[in-house]
Amino acid sequence: MKCFSHIRREEPMMIYGAIEAGGTKFVCAVGTEELTILERVSFPTTTPVETMKQVIDFFKPFKEQLAGIGVGCFGPIDIQCKSTSFGHITSTPKLAWQNFNFVGTLKQYFNIPIEWTTDVNAACYGEYVAGSGKGLAGVAYFTVGTGIGGGALFNGTFVEGFSHPEMGHMLIKRHPKDNFSGNCPFHQDCLEGMAAGPAIEKRLGVKGQNLLADDSFWQIEAFYLAQCAYNTTLMFSSDRIIFGGGVMKQEHMKKKVQDKFVELINGYVEIPPIDSYIITPELGDNAGIIGGLALARKAVRNKQP
Ligand code: ADP
Ligand code: ZN
Repeated sequence: MKCFSHIRREEPMMIYGAIEAGGTKFVCAVGTEELTILERVSFPTTTPVETMKQVIDFFKPFKEQLAGIGVGCFGPIDIQCKSTSFGHITSTPKLAWQNFNFVGTLKQYFNIPIEWTTDVNAACYGEYVAGSGKGLAGVAYFTVGTGIGGGALFNGTFVEGFSHPEMGHMLIKRHPKDNFSGNCPFHQDCLEGMAAGPAIEKRLGVKGQNLLADDSFWQIEAFYLAQCAYNTTLMFSSDRIIFGGGVMKQEHMKKKVQDKFVELINGYVEIPPIDSYIITPELGDNAGIIGGLALARKAVRNKQP
């Protein structure tokens, strides 16, 4: 653990906290009004007791200046303010975290505004505020990693109703050369079941990161992600569609998805220039944590008279 005394003395009066709560790892950070990260830590996601202790231990030295915390959490989560289980993780397959009161636990230690949303919404917000979505009205963000998650916002407000969207589970049509049955426990061959990292590994017996860039499978992967972009375009007309996550570390994928998307949409709607329409996150792996800081800032501003 680093020494934080220099921050307490010299940094601005008010700082913000961010938590990117992922299924495999947690990232915690504190940052300034300008969303500059001052300190960050990362640790594996284990049990709620163990992991939340690390979260609280990270933020404790900043308690006096900490004005708010923004949390982007793996889901599904309860985002309905009036619900008795608001702030809980709900039906996650990670059994130890089922029905865990995340916001309530934080509130026990930090009685400050806490903004609570999905991990992918936080990343979407980060790109909207400080990345490739800056100045645009509609931004959609997908993460293609251990799962596939999707979020969208319009003028800074997340698309949500009775709950947050679960866009990663949209249905897509199968590539004619793909006979993988899919591995989503709920829907088998939904987008996540066909195109997330574990689906690649189960299908080919090799992790995506170990697959050559010229492997013919990437055309199949692009076909699925292009359908995701197609559906998103026709439903939301977002100004940008951003694809992040581990699988998109394959740099050739962006172009493949763009090309396949143009083919699928077939001129039906006039889309923005493709190079700036389907993109990877400008903030890279920081999209979620910067989004968390920005959400904390928003929560604090909303509380002020
Ligand atoms: P998480 O979703 O757990 O936050 P990631 O976004 O890194 O983490 O996603 C992990 C998944 O992405 C794994 O299934 C892994 O095999 C795959 N992956 C990670 N890096 C790459 C890469 N460079 N190319 C293709 N797949 C990758
Ligand atoms: Zn599914």
